[in-house]
Amino acid sequence: MTGESILERLPELRRIEALIQRDHNEFLTTEILCHVPYRDESLPVYALTLGNKDQCLPSITYVGGIHGLERIGTLVVLAFLESMLERLHWDLTFTDILQRVRINVLPLINPVGMLNHTRANGNGIDLMRNAPVDSDERTVWLGGGHRISPLLPWYRGNIDEPMQLEARTLCDYVKREVIPSPFSLVLDCHSGFGYHNQIWFPYAKSRIEPIKHLGEVYYLRQLFMQTYPYQNYRFEPQSQHYLTHGDLWDYLYLQTLDHSNIFLPLTLEMGSWRWIRKNPLQMRNSLGFFHPIKPHRINRVLRGHLVLMEFLLHATLSYRQWLIASHTRDMARQALELWYPDAQP
Ligand SMILES: [Zn+2]
Repeated sequence: MTGESILERLPELRRIEALIQRDHNEFLTTEILCHVPYRDESLPVYALTLGNKDQCLPSITYVGGIHGLERIGTLVVLAFLESMLERLHWDLTFTDILQRVRINVLPLINPVGMLNHTRANGNGIDLMRNAPVDSDERTVWLGGGHRISPLLPWYRGNIDEPMQLEARTLCDYVKREVIPSPFSLVLDCHSGFGYHNQIWFPYAKSRIEPIKHLGEVYYLRQLFMQTYPYQNYRFEPQSQHYLTHGDLWDYLYLQTLDHSNIFLPLTLEMGSWRWIRKNPLQMRNSLGFFHPIKPHRINRVLRGHLVLMEFLLHATLSYRQWLIASHTRDMARQALELWYPDAQP
């Protein structure tokens, strides 16, 4: 386990380790995926798994903390995990659900970044720009990922270097434990862009090229909107907002193009500008751009996303019930009209 002083400075990691040690966790499998070096010590990256690990079954994976400043992503993922663990004590439907699905939680991918209060990892590299995939289209200057210097944000790393340990660890895990499932969803939780809560799907690399599973993702969106008509998420391709190089989910999704399995990685981008508007003093604190400071606001954010996380779990579990309906030309056509009007014949 991790040294005392580091845990004091990184309460998110302390919370993960406390949760692992708690007695009710006979349902929970824990794996340390790697140790990220930090000075003379190292910080673990954990994967926690609930449910049935049979790779014939669908799986859902909740990810947080790829960007060290975005602590709220880690907290949202942990809040959902804690609520699932509580339900295991009393909720028979939940124990039944766990027979039929696998749930992975990777709450803190970039522990050194979170400890240092930086978006990047300890080497100054933005893990979400670090995959070996390039956009052919024009990306935002710097923000789309660059190779100029680790002193500037959004640095991709040197072209000759392999992927960073944290990025590689996440990709290896997804390839080994997630992609083999016949149907898998990911929800990767971030914060910091825009006023709204947004759900993004690939590609980040192209504004003109839709993903192969556009009909499926459009139908999933429709299911969500019809089941929860009062929700206020926007659900769109990431490319509607900005293009980037090196996106890890683009990279992983591209690996699955010739599979019959369906792997749909989603990103939750929690709109933090709203928190700043309500509390402009947050801007004095670098964390404040990405993390609500006032406790009542943190609670509201944690509460607010549980419905989405629960919906995605149930959509994964019941994928056979709706996936066929998504395979119509009509779905793909509606999706193209909505998001890729220029791709019309
Ligand atoms: Zn982020």
